[in-house]
Amino acid sequence: MSKSFKEMRESVILMATHNRHKVDEVKKVLSMTAKGAGKNYTVVSLEIIPQKIHLKENGVSFRENALSKNISLFQWLYTEGIESLEKIFSGGKGWILSDDSGLEVDVLNGAPGIYSARYAAKSNSQGNAPDEENNRKLLEELVNITTLESRRGQFRCLLALTPIEIEADQSDLLEKTEFFEGICRGHIACQPEGENGFGYDPLFIPEGYNKSFAVLGENIKNKISHRSRALEELADFLKRSER
Ligand code: IMP
Repeated sequence: MSKSFKEMRESVILMATHNRHKVDEVKKVLSMTAKGAGKNYTVVSLEIIPQKIHLKENGVSFRENALSKNISLFQWLYTEGIESLEKIFSGGKGWILSDDSGLEVDVLNGAPGIYSARYAAKSNSQGNAPDEENNRKLLEELVNITTLESRRGQFRCLLALTPIEIEADQSDLLEKTEFFEGICRGHIACQPEGENGFGYDPLFIPEGYNKSFAVLGENIKNKISHRSRALEELADFLKRSER
């Protein structure tokens, strides 16, 4: 096996998500931050696994939710998904990565927070609501807050990274999970604008700008977003790691 192929296979990162926007952002930011470090990462998502994997998300914080998504995927891989595990991490080593993130609005005491994806859902067990409905609900909640200065908030992203090593003790691997956090301050627009991105991007105007993430587009978002900040820390960690 050639050295470069071996290195590439050792750097597979499997993301515990079905959200292709998150995967795209991770791929783009990691390829920028990893440049110069002499490392290559192949980021893949659950789309490459034909079976449906249920990711638990029943924590009370972003950190707990990120960890519980990784644990769900990890346990599935080492039990029912052993064949997938051997195929994806055929060099024997790699990482699983989850992202739990959301919008925290100051005047709403941090809501929607960990419930960002299901903000407009009738009940917590109903699953995620469409982005447009979540955005509409947020605008309704803020209808009496008319100055931009009082519509301040932030996006928060928590990444959990767990090593995979086919031969290693499973509980040791889970204990080695590392967390990386990123925050992006800004304020909530009075109406949606722009077509790029996902989730609350049409309503979120990052600090230092006067247009929403959905107008600013991916190049600017990927330099300043909560996710890119967490990914910079993650890339630093990967640079230092021996894998
Ligand atoms: P999760 O998939 O359970 O972590 O939920 C994340 C939710 O937070 C998304 O569905 C969006 O509503 C919101 N969110 C997180 N990151 C972003 C972002 O970068 N832009 C817009 N909305 C985001």
